[in-house]
Amino acid sequence: ATMPPLLSAIATAGRHGVLVKSAAAMERLGAVTRVALDKTGTLTEGAPRVAGVRSPAGSGTDGARALALAAAAEQSSEHPIARAVVAAARERGLRVPGACEFSSTPGRGVRAVVEGRTVRVGSPAALLNAGVSGSEEGLAEEQLRGARAVASEVEAAGQTAVAVLVDGLPVAVLALTDRLRPGAREAVARLHRLTGAETGLGHGAEAGTASETGVTLLTGDNARAARRTAEECGITDVQAGLLPQDKVAAVRAWQDGGAKVLMVGDGVNDAPALAAAHSGVAMGRVGSDLALETADAVVVRDETGAVPTVVALSRRARRLVV
Ligand code: ADP
Ligand code: MG
Repeated sequence: ATMPPLLSAIATAGRHGVLVKSAAAMERLGAVTRVALDKTGTLTEGAPRVAGVRSPAGSGTDGARALALAAAAEQSSEHPIARAVVAAARERGLRVPGACEFSSTPGRGVRAVVEGRTVRVGSPAALLNAGVSGSEEGLAEEQLRGARAVASEVEAAGQTAVAVLVDGLPVAVLALTDRLRPGAREAVARLHRLTGAETGLGHGAEAGTASETGVTLLTGDNARAARRTAEECGITDVQAGLLPQDKVAAVRAWQDGGAKVLMVGDGVNDAPALAAAHSGVAMGRVGSDLALETADAVVVRDETGAVPTVVALSRRARRLVV
C-alpha cells in the first residue's frame, strides 16, 4: 500500500529536520492563516552575548562584582540570557559564588540569595520601576532613576538591557546582543507568502482581512530591540514587552477573529501561547523542555526556514487527503 499523504509528509518533514508529532499535528500545520514568531531563540540564535556591563552612577559596586553576583543568581535558569550572563562571568575569570532560594518569573527574570544578599536579575521594566522592596526609599528612587537612564541608552542602541539589583538597589545594567539566525529573513518572506499577507487574499474562503493574515513578532524584549530584529527580517507588525500571558492573549484575539494561528517559539515563556494556538512549532536545540512538549512540531536542526517548509508540506498533503 502507498503511505497516506499526511504520514508521507511527516517523513519528508523529518528529512528537513522537523519532527512532527502526529498526523493530526501535521494536518493542523497547513490550516494556519496567521503566524506569530517569538524573537529570542526563534528569529535570533538565542545565544545572546553580554557586550557590556554598565554601572549606574552611585551604585558603589564595580562591574566585575555585579556580573559575578548576577551569574550566581542565574546559575539555575535555563533562559538564554541566564546562560549568557554565566558565560560572561566565566570568560572574565570571575569566581561565581553559590546561590540559594532561587526563583524565576517567566518574562521578567530571576531572584536568588547570594552570600546573604538578595540578587535580582531581569527586565528593566519589571525591576527598575518604583516599589522594589527591601531598599531605603529616597536612595532607591534616585538610583533607580539612574539605572533606568542607562537601560534606555542600551535599548536605544537596539540591545537588550538587563538590570542587576542587590538588596533592592540597582548595581549594574548589562547590555546584550543577539544575532539573527541565518535564513530567518527568507523564512519570514515565505511565511508572508503562505499566509497571503503580500497579496491580501489570505488563505481559504473565510480569510482575507488584514487581521487574519500575516506575520507578527511577539516578544518579551523591549520595543526598540524588537523593532530592530523585525526590520532585519522583514516583519512590520511587532508587539513587544509581552509577558507569557500577553502572548496567549494576542493569539486568542486573532483566533476569536476567525484566524488559525501558528505560534513559533522556544522558551518556557512561549509554552502557554504554543498551547493556545491552532498549531505550535518549537525551536529544538535552544528550546525549553516545556515548549518542546507543548508544540505540534519541533525544528530539530535549528533552521527557521524549516517552518514554512513544514506548513507547505502540510498544505500539499491536505489537498491529497480530500
Ligand atoms: P522573548 O519573548 O524575546 O523570548 P522572554 O519573554 O524570554 O523574551 O524574556 C523577556 C524579558 O524578560 C527579557 O528580555 C529579559 O529582560 C527578561 N528575562 C526573562 N528571563 C530572564 C532571566 N533568566 N535573566 C534575565 N532577564 C530575564
Ligand atoms: Mg524566546
